[in-house]
Amino acid sequence: ALTTDSEPVSTPASPNDSAVQKGQLVIVSGPSGSGKSTVTKRLREVCTLPLAPSVSATTRAPRDGEIEGVDYFFLSDDEFQRRRQAGEFLEAKQVFSLGHWYGTLADQVATGLNAGKWVILEIDVQGALAVLEDPRYAPITIFIHPGSMTELERRLRDRGTETEVAIQARLKTAAREMESRDVYQHQVINETVDQAVDDICHILQIHKESTSCSKN
Ligand code: 5GP
Repeated sequence: ALTTDSEPVSTPASPNDSAVQKGQLVIVSGPSGSGKSTVTKRLREVCTLPLAPSVSATTRAPRDGEIEGVDYFFLSDDEFQRRRQAGEFLEAKQVFSLGHWYGTLADQVATGLNAGKWVILEIDVQGALAVLEDPRYAPITIFIHPGSMTELERRLRDRGTETEVAIQARLKTAAREMESRDVYQHQVINETVDQAVDDICHILQIHKESTSCSKN
């Protein structure tokens, strides 16, 4: 609700045309607490496709154990806005009512696609909609469900990283995100990590087969 997309920003770095055809963009969304980070991390370990992460930038503080440049690039508000104005983001959104910004760095995506990778964006629904507006990317879109809202709340509380106010904000955002799940090509329920990883890997393999068939 706090997104201010109307400000003019410069055009972000873009992948070259052949790279877009060689690599593949994959968007994975799902409410905070749906387990998507765990699932996508494991997916990169076990799925045989050339998967690559895209490290996003955020203005929220690092959680215990999070590493700069691996989990996120942690930026101050000023630095984030400076880079946004400089056109460094493919998309950038203020995700929660608490006011943190998150954004996909265009050079992370371009570098991966240029190397023929399947670049995975773990982004929220608003971010996914912004990427879908650009016809060059034709991403595969996957929505991960937590199973139920009760399960989601349990996971958020078990994680123990958020204040009560932040948990309530995340639950509210989650309910809204769940309403947008039909925008995605695929929906996967994360009841167990292994099953969700298997399902997503299978979805990606099928896309690979169907695109190689259509090129023949
Ligand atoms: P968290 O604070 O739990 O790491 O992430 C909160 C939410 O921000 C998640 O729904 C996550 O998918 C989303 N998010 C993370 N990186 C990005 C990004 O680069 N762009 C957008 N639009 N959302 C992001």
